[in-house]
Amino acid sequence: MGLKEDIYFRSPIFVQNILTSVYGKKLMRERYGETYERIIGELRTKGKVDYREEQLERLNTFLMFCQLHNEYYRDLFIKYDIRLPLQSLDELKEIPVLEKETLRTLNESFLSRIDAPLHGRTGGTSGKSLQVAFTIEDMQERMAHLDFFKEQHGFRKGMRRASFTGRTLTAMNQKKPIFWRTNRPLNQLLLSIFHLTDDNFPAYIEKLNAFQPTAIDGAPSGMAELAQYMVDHDIRFTFRPLAIFPTSETVTPEMRELIERAFGAELFDQYASSEGAPLISECRNHKLHLHHETGIVEPYGEEGEVLVTCFTTRGTPLIRYRIGDRMTLTDETCSCGLNGPVIGSIDGRGTGYIVSEARGKVFEGDLTTIARELPNSIRRLQVEQFAKDEVTLRYVPDEQRFLPNHEKILLREMHHLFGPEMKVTLEPVSRIPKEPNGKILVVKQSMTV
Ligand SMILES: [Zn+2]
Repeated sequence: MGLKEDIYFRSPIFVQNILTSVYGKKLMRERYGETYERIIGELRTKGKVDYREEQLERLNTFLMFCQLHNEYYRDLFIKYDIRLPLQSLDELKEIPVLEKETLRTLNESFLSRIDAPLHGRTGGTSGKSLQVAFTIEDMQERMAHLDFFKEQHGFRKGMRRASFTGRTLTAMNQKKPIFWRTNRPLNQLLLSIFHLTDDNFPAYIEKLNAFQPTAIDGAPSGMAELAQYMVDHDIRFTFRPLAIFPTSETVTPEMRELIERAFGAELFDQYASSEGAPLISECRNHKLHLHHETGIVEPYGEEGEVLVTCFTTRGTPLIRYRIGDRMTLTDETCSCGLNGPVIGSIDGRGTGYIVSEARGKVFEGDLTTIARELPNSIRRLQVEQFAKDEVTLRYVPDEQRFLPNHEKILLREMHHLFGPEMKVTLEPVSRIPKEPNGKILVVKQSMTV
């Protein structure tokens, strides 16, 4: 978290809270300034526009920026005879696809010759994330879009928020039941996802009731664990949040149902934490919209992958970047009033998939079909692959609803998905085990190649 960890962890908790707030102040200065105010003002007052026209205009501004300040793209545009401004969005296809490997090996020459002091990752949730640099303007533009998304659901900057975070807030061996820190400048309660256990849940609930957040955001796997405990013990919050905003992980339909039921609020998803990608967020009609002012998403290849061009990557420009995530693009429209095109679904962040002889690659998004035949009797699931013909389906049954014949249905659906040759082990568990980073995977690939 930018602070020297050893000093932080050796300090008493009240000092850790102060250090968290000092860090919060620093974040405030980076995130909210002139660019932020200008962009969010524009978004709030924007009427109906032709998003394609606006995309083309912004694309050209971005490409000209790259030509001027970035060595890699200046050479690339000469080599491929790219003449700016482009006359149509189709002409973007004349620029070659950017593979992760290229970005990795030529890392230095991708850095623009401008002040880009902020660092982030790209590459979705897959292990191979890459460092990229951002300018202050990049960051503020993203924040404006993110806050605008939350405003659609009634949440304004400065309102109380509770965030489930995988950042290390407390020492792993801390026994005293204080697993949160407060970031006063942002009015934010940070809750550690590393200490969510049966013994600690009551303390988390008590703290949330005392804090009374207007919105709950952060890691959905952490939210789902707390939600599970609340449903099992018939506990409700003493407050009602306006909305729930998960970040960075895939939210399965089961997780969504569970979290909404326990927390008593609607969940609105976003695809924004992958910092090299344009923003996509869920509107009040629960449709996903691309924030077209932040970039372009193109379909790529046979397996539902996308290429992203992200206008808020001036520090390390990403043009037609093969990010590894999968989406279903559509021509659907939406009545909510937002201009950006509707994205049918986000089918997989990162490249987590199961491989089967009969069906090839089966991605995270496809796995949600497994439980569809059941009357809500499964709460969470995870598929782990150990060998080409061997997978385990771990699932958390809802004891009240799960009947013996549901196992047969699960097996049938698994074979339907992976082919009859796949050896499937069913493993009912009370909780899906966490990864070392505190997150819970839907697809776990443990096959040694
Ligand atoms: Zn909409």
